[in-house]
Amino acid sequence: MDYQKLAELLFPHVTETPAAMEAKFPPRNLPEGAKVTRFAPSPTGFVHFGGLFPSTIGERLAHQSGGVFMLRIEDTDAKREVDGAAEGLIRTLEHYGIRFDEGAVIGEDGTICDKGDYGPYKQSQRGPIYHVFAKQLVSEGKAYPVFTTKEELEALNAADKKAEIKAKDWHEDQTEAREKMLEARNITIEEVEENLKAGNPFVLRILADGDPEKKLRFTDLIKGNLEIPENDEDFVLLKSDGIPTYHFAHAVDDHLMGTTHVIRGEEWLPSLPKHLMLFRYLGFKLPKFMHIAQIMRLDENGNKKKLSKRDMGANMDDYSRMGYAPACVCEYIMTLLNSNYEEWHMQNPEKPYTDFPFNIKKMSNSGCLFDFNKLNDVSKNIISRMSAKEVTEQVTAWALEYDPAFGAQLSRDPAMTEAIFAIGRGGKKPRKDLATWADAKPYMGFFFDYVQEDEYDESFDRADIKTALEQFLASYDPADDMNAWFEKVKGIARAIGYADDMKAYKADPTAFRGNIADVSMFLRVAVTGKLNAPDLYTVMQILGEDETRARITRMIETL
Ligand code: GLU
Repeated sequence: MDYQKLAELLFPHVTETPAAMEAKFPPRNLPEGAKVTRFAPSPTGFVHFGGLFPSTIGERLAHQSGGVFMLRIEDTDAKREVDGAAEGLIRTLEHYGIRFDEGAVIGEDGTICDKGDYGPYKQSQRGPIYHVFAKQLVSEGKAYPVFTTKEELEALNAADKKAEIKAKDWHEDQTEAREKMLEARNITIEEVEENLKAGNPFVLRILADGDPEKKLRFTDLIKGNLEIPENDEDFVLLKSDGIPTYHFAHAVDDHLMGTTHVIRGEEWLPSLPKHLMLFRYLGFKLPKFMHIAQIMRLDENGNKKKLSKRDMGANMDDYSRMGYAPACVCEYIMTLLNSNYEEWHMQNPEKPYTDFPFNIKKMSNSGCLFDFNKLNDVSKNIISRMSAKEVTEQVTAWALEYDPAFGAQLSRDPAMTEAIFAIGRGGKKPRKDLATWADAKPYMGFFFDYVQEDEYDESFDRADIKTALEQFLASYDPADDMNAWFEKVKGIARAIGYADDMKAYKADPTAFRGNIADVSMFLRVAVTGKLNAPDLYTVMQILGEDETRARITRMIETL
């Protein structure tokens, strides 16, 4: 077979050579040890929580080493593509602080454009590049065409989107598969010419030289040392529309873009024999690989399950709606990624997570467990250390979008809102009430409106409550400092036969009708409508004398 002639017949439009391509995308001029990584999503929907993993790892490894982090849009499967998904993806990643140095970006006109010298960064725009290397493989006898008729192809496409590849995956019946494969491999130049003349489409298949009985040694930076079988499958490189499969595009793109570390989901591990073959056939240096385990969750019965697309917590856009601050989600991801992150964070509470020396070796090689409780804990810690101003701004912005009525209340008097969020903040042990911005309303919405109801436990004598509230009104002076205020509350306790001191009460509960905590609670429920609320003295200060008195008076009338 004259492979050179075959290559010309199949790719008459390709005039460039692989060498010219290499010259167009020269090795990057980076410091020793700099890593070049990429996030390569397919624009088929939203950003999955599992997608934030590889992107965070890629971002950290590149930026920690003075390297480059790219965004490549893998849109070679037009049928699965969702309109606007790529733009949505870029915006979501940006929201989570995932900063790309190169790649697909949203331009001023709102459409996707390229930033960087190694593009295009959208695979659908790289057709001519793939064809250069496809032609090379054919000319070296490493790939060959398999023709179909248009009618056959249409029938396949109508049945199943991926049918074209699947139907010829000659692996179901091994003997038949082998025969078909050898037959297809033996196509002659004359047959090719006839098919081309008839306008028949073809897929381009690799001519595999592997022996699956033989194993290749391979080291994955996460999975460790592996032995993988050689590939003997003549898999598809180009589909009949000339668009590459993932495998082919991956090899060409990661080579030309200078990727040093391929970070991707472990679902690609079974395809690795194909990729090793491709890099070898094309004469490309093999990058390092990191295959990340799937993220797991616990189901209702406590069993581990994969975090699937439909699960709560999978879609990153849900987090915005639920009111999670991006910084909290990012930090939570760090705790999942590196086992020593939390320890580091406790020692460096003021430092951003980007200061943490992220280490591949500290990654678990089995699936991380996604857990909302843990996320909430991480989140509460972070929010407790934010300034009142920052919390005010973020809660208000969130509420204006997702709970406009509440947003309007918060923005009516920003200074008051900030004073509210300042309660219990700034000390050594700050309050940890908020895991999400949505938690703000149940926590402090009572400042704006609340339901005045008799929420007191049945065991309390209504007369005691009434008397306590009346005495408070009689003695209340907003000019009192916290001590004077509390002394008055103690005085009320004594006056109605309640212990003003918890120690004394605990020593002999029968000697009292109740205790000081009960009296504080009588006031708290009257003023906030809640059993748990931030420091009551400060709450009254912020509400002001009129509102405080009005609320207590209304409660007295209710009882
Ligand atoms: N487009 C592939 C995916 O979304 C990318 C895998 C990779 O990073 O190479 O799974």
